[in-house]
Amino acid sequence: MAIDLRSDTVTRPSQAMREAIAAAPVGDDVYGDDPTVNSLEERVAAMFGKEAGVFTPTGSLANQLAIRMLVNPGEELIAETNSHIVRAELGAAAVFSGITTRTWPAIHGLLRAADALEIARPDSGPYLVSTTAIAVENTHNFGGGTVQPISEIAELRKGADALKLALHLDGARIWNAHIASGTPFAEYGKYFDTVSVCLSKGLGAPIGSVMLSTKERVSKARVWRKRYGAGMRQVGLLAAAAHYALDNNISRLAEDHRRAKQIAIAIAAIDSTLVDPATVQTNIVGLDLANLPITAAELATRCREKGLWISALGPKYARLVTHLDFDDAQCSEAIEILKVALVA
Ligand SMILES: *Cc1c(COP(=O)(O)O)cnc(C)c1O
Repeated sequence: MAIDLRSDTVTRPSQAMREAIAAAPVGDDVYGDDPTVNSLEERVAAMFGKEAGVFTPTGSLANQLAIRMLVNPGEELIAETNSHIVRAELGAAAVFSGITTRTWPAIHGLLRAADALEIARPDSGPYLVSTTAIAVENTHNFGGGTVQPISEIAELRKGADALKLALHLDGARIWNAHIASGTPFAEYGKYFDTVSVCLSKGLGAPIGSVMLSTKERVSKARVWRKRYGAGMRQVGLLAAAAHYALDNNISRLAEDHRRAKQIAIAIAAIDSTLVDPATVQTNIVGLDLANLPITAAELATRCREKGLWISALGPKYARLVTHLDFDDAQCSEAIEILKVALVA
């Protein structure tokens, strides 16, 4: 069996998770009748200190519903240059909501509140686009799983309040940030007007995200979810998998982080320009191949021939993501394959 480190989305539901799915009480969620979905939405909202939540099939939809609630058509959302909302949602903010984006760059995606606030332009009058919201990604995916410092988040909230801007948290991997930093979920939640979280990344559910906010925004978002065609019926089957993931798979993320660090240390020992292990805080190892004569695609091909799947996300940027279907034995094997592929 191949070792698949392309993403933490590649995990398959365990037998125990499948049993939880099979046992779930369900109902028609468009009518608000699915008890498992309702309890999931309430549970996740409570974890983050929010009034309400709405279950969505994808994290992209959770993000899009959130920013739609914060930013009017023709207004602006600002975000980091390599954020998922800007780069990986295929222009959805513009296509669906008429939202324009402007970006600030950050090394490893690491938030500095001052960088974001510097480009914010609220109330720009009739000639320029007005900024109405700022998005923060935690952990930062393309930045290499970077955990955002709570001090910078607090600074950003202060600055945003002064400018009357809303804040959105793309918390697809907030679970990893929590495990790495020890910061409580509710502490993250309190700084943001809207929050999106994914159950289908490190937590290992097959599908599912939740968008969290006030009751008012969430009931509006529910209407938009239906309008987008994502009103779902007996979807408690999926919410049951999410409940199982929340019950069982949060604290074990520490193992994914330990294995990612182990991989980073082994790779840095081959060539220290590839990765700085100190920057590997969670489950993502980003490799900078700038000093190597091969491209990321070539590295990915070499690895694949030996049974290790990795992602080539840029011409010279490769990514490995550890997850719950990846153990210590596979970790040692992956390191051996990488050693050969990198020096060949
Ligand atoms: C995966 C991810 C999402 C959501 O992705 P979907 O594939 O739409 O579920 C959003 N933000 C970040 C940072 C992600 O890594």
